[in-house]
Amino acid sequence: MEYRYRCIECGKTYSITPNLMLCPVCSQRKKNDEPLVGILEVQYVTQDKSFSYNDLCPVEKEFFPKIPVGDTPLWEPENLRKKINMPNLFIKDDSVNPTGSFKDRASYLVAAFAIKHNIYDITLASTGNAGSSMAGIGAAAGLNITLFLPKDAPPAKIVQALQYGARVIPVEGNYDAAYSLSLQYSKLDGSLNRNTAYNPMTIEGKKTVSFEIFKQLKKAPDYIFVPTGDGCILSGVYKGFKDLVRYGFTDKIPIIYCVQAEKSNAISNAFKTGKFQKIFSKTIADSISVDVPGSGYHALKQLKKYSGRCITVEDREILKSQKQLSETAGLFTEPAGAAAFAGFLKVKENLEKSASIVILCTGSGLKDTASAQKIIQYPGYAIKNIDELKEFEEKN
Ligand SMILES: *Cc1c(COP(=O)(O)O)cnc(C)c1O
Repeated sequence: MEYRYRCIECGKTYSITPNLMLCPVCSQRKKNDEPLVGILEVQYVTQDKSFSYNDLCPVEKEFFPKIPVGDTPLWEPENLRKKINMPNLFIKDDSVNPTGSFKDRASYLVAAFAIKHNIYDITLASTGNAGSSMAGIGAAAGLNITLFLPKDAPPAKIVQALQYGARVIPVEGNYDAAYSLSLQYSKLDGSLNRNTAYNPMTIEGKKTVSFEIFKQLKKAPDYIFVPTGDGCILSGVYKGFKDLVRYGFTDKIPIIYCVQAEKSNAISNAFKTGKFQKIFSKTIADSISVDVPGSGYHALKQLKKYSGRCITVEDREILKSQKQLSETAGLFTEPAGAAAFAGFLKVKENLEKSASIVILCTGSGLKDTASAQKIIQYPGYAIKNIDELKEFEEKN
């Protein structure tokens, strides 16, 4: 199996090297406050017909660190299915990845790629999960990680990254500010930049979720709900199914629902108007809070080409859905993951009852308990003996 990069805009192909991130020609056209132009996708070239889709990977097995990423469970939430009368609803639970989020899929491939090329320093910007993920996977691989992230990121994600031994640099400002600083830094110190969508290995790593869903269902589902910020997971989901189609494993690309927060809706907005406008994102779902989505153009193009759809959900709906999923399925997902479920609840009346539907739950609820606490009654009173139980019930 041979592999190379192919520019998604002009189609020119390049050999894969650690210094090449974007198409050198097309990326020149990018203006300020605009999504990336000239994203490179990995393309495989083979004469051999007898390979498995798992061979569609640009780094050989021996370079991957020994840490169990991916192969996450596809839940069949029986109680929830009955309650909402959707018998073929599935939840892909990526919170069981080693660092508790979907981001491990990208970090895993980036780590392997770095090791293959004898690179031991990795830099990135993150809203929280990509950083704690790269820190954890990097620790397993013996890599040095420098992480720029908004100083308001959920504390659990910062603690996680520090536990794993990363160098954590809080940034005054949002993810977009951290993104720009991380690029400046990696240019100065020569480390490998893992920024989402910018480093082609991020989309390529994330595509493995589609391979797994295909294997677990023994077919491509009808719908997949994807919580979306930068649009890199969405592009990864498409890349997986595009590979499956291109190399003859299926002929179906599922209908993808791009779910965004109402106030972090750059891609949904561009889907309607055809243009990316500068927004000032604000949502409780920190993992999908992005002003300028890195993979925006790429995501948009694919949504249009493969009949994808965009929906937005309010923070209130996200918190309600998070609670509903916790108490009907036993799955406590972080607000971004809950956003995908909220999006599904919003459109479920329009979906065929028999449709096979997959909700991507991308991160663990334990990563941001402060948000989850907003919709529950946290006990503010402790009892000393059993007689006080009645009083306790009254006070709570
Ligand atoms: C990063 C992230 C997302 C969004 O992925 P994008 O590639 O930015 O669209 C969704 N959920 C969780 C938990 C994440 O960490």
